[in-house]
Amino acid sequence: MATQLNETRQNDTRAHWLATLATYRKDFDAPSNPRCWSPALETCSRDELAAVQNAKLAALAPFLYENSPFYRRRFDRLGLLPSDIRTVEDLPKWPVVDKAEMMADAAEHPPYGTYTAMTEDVWAERGWMMFSSSGSTGAPRVFRYSQIDREYWSWANARALHSMGIRKGDTVLALAGFGPHVFIWGAVAALFHMGIPVLPGGGMDAKARANVIARFKPTVIACTPSYALYLGRTMQDLGIDPAASAVRTILVGGEPAMGIDATRERLAELWDARVVEFYGCTEASPHCGGYSCAESVQPDGVSSHLMEDVQIWELVDPEDRTPVAFGERGLTVCTCLNSESSPQLRFLVGDYTTLDAAPCACGRTHVRALGAFTGRADDLIFLRGIKMFPAQIEQAVRAVPGIGDEFEIVLATRDDGLDVMTVRVEHAQHAQAAAIIEQVSGELRSRCEVRAAVEVLAPNTLAKTEFKAKRVRDHRKK
Ligand SMILES: [Zn+2]
Repeated sequence: MATQLNETRQNDTRAHWLATLATYRKDFDAPSNPRCWSPALETCSRDELAAVQNAKLAALAPFLYENSPFYRRRFDRLGLLPSDIRTVEDLPKWPVVDKAEMMADAAEHPPYGTYTAMTEDVWAERGWMMFSSSGSTGAPRVFRYSQIDREYWSWANARALHSMGIRKGDTVLALAGFGPHVFIWGAVAALFHMGIPVLPGGGMDAKARANVIARFKPTVIACTPSYALYLGRTMQDLGIDPAASAVRTILVGGEPAMGIDATRERLAELWDARVVEFYGCTEASPHCGGYSCAESVQPDGVSSHLMEDVQIWELVDPEDRTPVAFGERGLTVCTCLNSESSPQLRFLVGDYTTLDAAPCACGRTHVRALGAFTGRADDLIFLRGIKMFPAQIEQAVRAVPGIGDEFEIVLATRDDGLDVMTVRVEHAQHAQAAAIIEQVSGELRSRCEVRAAVEVLAPNTLAKTEFKAKRVRDHRKK
């Protein structure tokens, strides 16, 4: 029988949680040195980092138990007490929370669900802002974050932007519709914190944005990778060379790019700029989680740091969800240690990667995701027993010279019942398609081990991506 929530314990555990967060909020206002915003948190030993995580975790479990009905029910169901989750070593006792579980809770308790550790009184006191998941699976889910969260968010993301080399003297053009997607708001919150100028790029089309770039000379653009390609091409069509613009850094988020070499290189070349990336999810926000550093791109591969004093990152096996050791491939799981309203305990974010705790050449000791991130497990395409990511198909398509930025993956069931894939690409030589079909098919066979039909279209046939690319159209009969 679940015990009732008790107001004194609610308040006491909340106060202890917030006091613990404040203890480890170092170098809040400004960077401590040019290389590293908070060396005390970012270049400390792995043992010191674990001590920070353990102190936060020991305050987090009682806070969740007393304040979140979703987590309280889970503790009771699992027969666990908050005192059972005190250190990082205790985490495997707590089975990962997945999207399906959170969606079921939200469906039962619309519109927000019961995962949050806030009562309506606390929400009203704090103030809040709502974000939503992009809804790649199921209906978009909504999340509120408090003003306290926003302060931690702006600080952690400022540390990430500093790591990427974004500094005073830069001007950032934020290219988004400013809808309820967390990425661009997180970047803007950090820029305010850092005192770096922001040009809001919402509410205008690509031509207007190209004019903003020409007139106001931002040195950084922040957007999805698909949009950075689209905008660059639009500028070329207008006779403006994006590579000759003032833009020197492209901050991408919302879809994978750093881990897809051909896309990252295409962006870098189009804009003559460096590509850096935010990685994260709405559930374990408000922080970005993953962030690039000056050493992220190396000849032997790319990597992304994960901010370990504000989140604990683990990998689990995709089948049985047991922990996967550093150095092995698995799915990302995040415990969010710096949020009052959404302090998730072992949320299955679900991107495949490999973690490496060896110190980075940049001096940071925070774990790195090798190869960065190339897609969520949810996006995996199953075709005739073969599994592949849209990112692998993207690599194959981009490997062939002259192919346009847009492409489409169409899955269908033939009359004889066989599931088939067609990859639709654009090429100026569409009238003589045979050689291009041969090349793209060859790349798909060698990279994805799949046979697919290839259709070559005239340039500008496929719809242009304005925000997040929707590459896969699945018309298969289930
Ligand atoms: Zn680094």
